[in-house]
Amino acid sequence: MLLHEWLQKDNEQKAGGESRPGGYPFGFMDEGAKREVRRIILKAVAIPGYQVPYGSREMPIARGWGTGGIQITLAMILPADVIKVIDQGCDGSVNAVNIKKFIRAVTDVEITTDTRAATVIQTRHRIPEEPMTADQILVLQVPYPEALREVEPSEMETRRMHAEADYSRMWLFLYEDIVKYGEISISYRYPVTVNGRYIMDPSPIPRWDVPKLHMAETLFLFGAGREKRIYAIPPHTRVEPLEFEDHLFRVESFDDKSCARCGAGDTFLDEIIDSAAGDRLHYCSDSGYCDKRYSQCNH
Ligand SMILES: [Zn+2]
Repeated sequence: MLLHEWLQKDNEQKAGGESRPGGYPFGFMDEGAKREVRRIILKAVAIPGYQVPYGSREMPIARGWGTGGIQITLAMILPADVIKVIDQGCDGSVNAVNIKKFIRAVTDVEITTDTRAATVIQTRHRIPEEPMTADQILVLQVPYPEALREVEPSEMETRRMHAEADYSRMWLFLYEDIVKYGEISISYRYPVTVNGRYIMDPSPIPRWDVPKLHMAETLFLFGAGREKRIYAIPPHTRVEPLEFEDHLFRVESFDDKSCARCGAGDTFLDEIIDSAAGDRLHYCSDSGYCDKRYSQCNH
């Protein structure tokens, strides 16, 4: 038997004997690449909030479209896993649908839109509204992993700042923001301190989702494919947004607004302008949760 046939057979056996299009191994990446990503994940879990460099692999999609998250998902996925992919909270957006199709093509795992049914959830820009459990992993796609980039363009210098926990310029940046706008104006990528040590970029989630990272049951993995960094927040880890005693962190306020479809008044809402009537309507950004509530109300 030729080597490539043997390798393919070996991978087919691991994945339950089914062959995949193009003869790709289960999970697309070869076993060595997957092992490397898993080692990096272990290091990231051991040093919460620390960005671990890794050899980001080429994926069949362009960097900047979620390749960091995809590599994490594919490195740890097993045939029994159930996957959910969301983009800005939505299961049906083009990016989420294409990533799902790709994961399905190279693994044959089950796909779901139900947060509770998923074992691995890959996401861009949102954390699901429903609380996640210790049996689940949330994989976040990260465009810019460096929280200090706003205040320092040099990679060498930001690494020194992290190593020495020299975060004075970050605090000064927030102070100047308050002087200019009367409050901290950062809406997405709100910087947090992880486990009392590293300042970390939680990826472009809204402030609404930041408290969900604190002392959670779930493992959070962050993958930046283009920037070649992986970092993590293990379960039961302190995650504190940067704030001043007299200018405390706060989440977005939707006042008395509620979802025009399912009626939820306790979710992160997207504002949609009805082009015909010109009305401003609000809908849950988490489409899976909205679907679930909607079907419960109507049956
Ligand atoms: Zn809704």
